[in-house]
Amino acid sequence: MKTAIFGGTFDPIHNGHLRIASAAVTRWGLERVLFVPAGKPPHKLGATAADYEHRFRMVELACMGNPEFEASRLEAGAEYSYSIETIGKVRASLAAGETLYFLIGADAFAEIRSWKRWRDIVDSVEFLVVSRPGHRYETPPGARIQSMEDMNLRYSSSGIRRDLASSEGTADVPAAVMAYIRANKLYGGSADK
Ligand code: ATP
Ligand code: MG
Repeated sequence: MKTAIFGGTFDPIHNGHLRIASAAVTRWGLERVLFVPAGKPPHKLGATAADYEHRFRMVELACMGNPEFEASRLEAGAEYSYSIETIGKVRASLAAGETLYFLIGADAFAEIRSWKRWRDIVDSVEFLVVSRPGHRYETPPGARIQSMEDMNLRYSSSGIRRDLASSEGTADVPAAVMAYIRANKLYGGSADK
């Protein structure tokens, strides 16, 4: 099954993530996109704003109704989560010789050489790199990539967290995710006050 891993902090998942994944399904004919919330992301300083279980549940809500999208618990409980380990686990579920794809934004791909065992990652997957405003990247030696350069989405989780903390307005997240955020009083929004 043509599978892509889509890792992230997803703190919270937003409409940009979903639009990217939908575009990737259409463009590359993916049959399965595994959204893998990071247990404890090594690349983020400090704690995540929302706990793993909340981030996972929001991803699960956002994936509903998209048959190709699947929320994955592969990084649950990890002290730190490393993509190379997640890749190994997904790879084990594929047929021998099947290509595994890794969907990633330009900002994250630009940092790929700082990831644990990046050369092994580069040997294990084919990257599907999606452009992001203000971010350029170089392709590391040996990396197989296909790129989507016409995505120009300004959504970010950090922007959404700021919006939620400072205003009562809705954020660029699916309605079910917004309802979850409100019900659980995440991100210090007005629902808390
Ligand atoms: P934060 O602002 O907290 O870093 P984020 O919006 O970057 O959040 P992440 O969970 O860090 O979301 O990202 C998960 C993946 O989605 C990464 O590969 C990232 O590059 C990609 N991504 C997120 N938003 C966009 C966007 N607007 N355009 C392109 N790629 C994106
Ligand atoms: Mg990010």
